Amino acid sequence: MQLFDSTALPSFATIHPAEMGPLVEAQLTFNRQKLAQLLAEPMTSVDVFLGALEEMEDALNQLWSPIQHLHSVMQSEDWRTTYNTLLPLITEYHTERSQNEMLFKAVLAIADRNDFTTCSQTQKKIIEYAIRDFKLAGIHLSPDKKMRMGALRQQLNQWTTKFSENLLDATEAFVLPVTAETMLCGLPAQTIQLAKAHAESRGLSGWALTLDYPVYSTAMKFLEDRSLRFALYVAYVTRASDQSASHRELDNSEVMAHILKVRHEIATLVGFKNYAEYSLATKMAKTPQEVLGFLRDLLVRSHALAEKEYLALQREAACDGIMQIEPWDVPYYSEKLQAKTFHITQEALRPYFPIHHVLQGLFMVANQLYGVTIAHEPNVPTWHEDVRFYVIYDETAHLRGGFYIDLYARTQKREGAWMDECRARKHILHPLQHPVAYLTCNFMPPVGKTPALLTHDDVLTLFHEFGHCLHHLLTVIDYPSVAGINGVLWDAVEFPSQFMENYVWEEDSLKQFAAHYQTDVPLPHDLYSNLIATKNFQTGLQMVRQLELALFDFRLHFEYDSTKQDFIQNILNDVRSQTAVMPVPAFNRFQHSFAHIFAGGYAAGYYSYKWAEVLSADAYGLFKEKGLFDHATGQSLMKNVLEVGGTRDPMEAFVAFRGRKPTVDALLEQSGMIEGVTQ
Ligand SMILES: [Zn+2]
Repeated sequence: MQLFDSTALPSFATIHPAEMGPLVEAQLTFNRQKLAQLLAEPMTSVDVFLGALEEMEDALNQLWSPIQHLHSVMQSEDWRTTYNTLLPLITEYHTERSQNEMLFKAVLAIADRNDFTTCSQTQKKIIEYAIRDFKLAGIHLSPDKKMRMGALRQQLNQWTTKFSENLLDATEAFVLPVTAETMLCGLPAQTIQLAKAHAESRGLSGWALTLDYPVYSTAMKFLEDRSLRFALYVAYVTRASDQSASHRELDNSEVMAHILKVRHEIATLVGFKNYAEYSLATKMAKTPQEVLGFLRDLLVRSHALAEKEYLALQREAACDGIMQIEPWDVPYYSEKLQAKTFHITQEALRPYFPIHHVLQGLFMVANQLYGVTIAHEPNVPTWHEDVRFYVIYDETAHLRGGFYIDLYARTQKREGAWMDECRARKHILHPLQHPVAYLTCNFMPPVGKTPALLTHDDVLTLFHEFGHCLHHLLTVIDYPSVAGINGVLWDAVEFPSQFMENYVWEEDSLKQFAAHYQTDVPLPHDLYSNLIATKNFQTGLQMVRQLELALFDFRLHFEYDSTKQDFIQNILNDVRSQTAVMPVPAFNRFQHSFAHIFAGGYAAGYYSYKWAEVLSADAYGLFKEKGLFDHATGQSLMKNVLEVGGTRDPMEAFVAFRGRKPTVDALLEQSGMIEGVTQ
């Protein structure tokens, strides 16, 4: 078995922010010189030309990727400064390259060369995407408009970074001290311990409730004290906003207005009517009307169910004498209702999902599906003692790649869960470079001697992110720009990840790893049945919430109008008037923490989750027919989807796998909104 060459990985144990500036600057100078040299000489072959371009971009990415990553997960003042100093230099370089007319002409000329016909599908895709991206960057614009585009890109990066920094600071600034344990009634012991640890680390006596997700989400589900839940809810939904009780300097209101304005100008500069149309240039969906029609159709199909579920929740709250259920009651009574209906709670399941069992189970499922084997590599340096590095082999024992797992919430770490690229697969001029990914979550950490115990929701999140990892690592494409998740049309990116979620709802899969952390006793059969029965609990409410976010995001970018007062809030209010099944308080500023669209890559693209879910649900249908771990079906999904990176049209790849185009029925059936036709 080939060993992983860890010497080529970023030296996370010793990496220092101050060292990175000169390295990045030197690489930028090198790339500029190399590009000028490449363009000055006659092109010897497409292989050499594209290879050289890919090599230089990859070298820069390998320096920039760990900086970006550490800025997300270890955001000390030093890393923040380094990141913010280097970001404009990186942006300037990318703008310059994307507007380089000599490079554009050279790429266009490739199609007229004699050796073009011998180009691989991968090379043709790189050329097609390059021409598309030159146009999106304004290659045809006059020099002054090109300069304007460069300035706008700089501004956009600065504002989106500011958005996420404000959000992180506002989240960490809030603390709710609790002096009597009786006030924490209802809260699981593990969370109480964590609240104690949070108080101690802040020099407080007693307990501290915070907005870090493991504490916040558990508190909202279990805290019996309604006033404490209210206080937490208010703090959470007003983070980084004009409604926040403190730290008004972290208000994202203006930042968001700038982001929308800049995006709109970028889109109109290159001839689009709005940023939604610009965004669709790199997606499967063709027109805004197609996206809006898709979302509105799902809304019509799910709204009545959501209303029914809301009434059931209202009835549950009424048993406690609450005549009008409020948003800060929803998780609490949902948990109660779920416990009453299915005799199960997320907390009761935690002991059966200790992290070591879950990881083992996840790797087993990946093995049964795709034949891959995953092994811990203990000697790879990481940025934190909790982080582990693993390598992945295929069924012929060939090394395919490696990944870091950083599982627990801590201070200075961005919230949420995500997969990101450390480096992409590359096999051009030098020996094969294996791809490497970062898998990041924010689970409740181990407390005292108790290992980290996950909820079933956490398990689902881990499977989801690991699906992205497999997509990035199992690729066989040799050029980094279209290997793994790179170059994949964005609304297809969530296909492999959401596909993996299916396996946390199957007894055949769960029974391989759900076992009590103290006794190793497997999850009892009746608990399985109860857990699986919860799959469609409040599925209407969840669907409607996702549609609300997707419609809000899309309309925000589609209907943007800088002359309209309170544009963002008004769009949100209007969307809610069609989607919401319960009133939302006027002080709610959820949008000020909607990092997916204001700081991440989902602008006018949040609909991608639902879009790709149609693909993943329908793909899973084939496994339901052939067998959950059917070898041939697993290999077919791997070959047609996971291995091809951005080199194949996602619809064509889906049809090759499924034998037909996707239909929305599988998603509706999976969500319990229509009866299944299969037995
Ligand atoms: Zn995802």
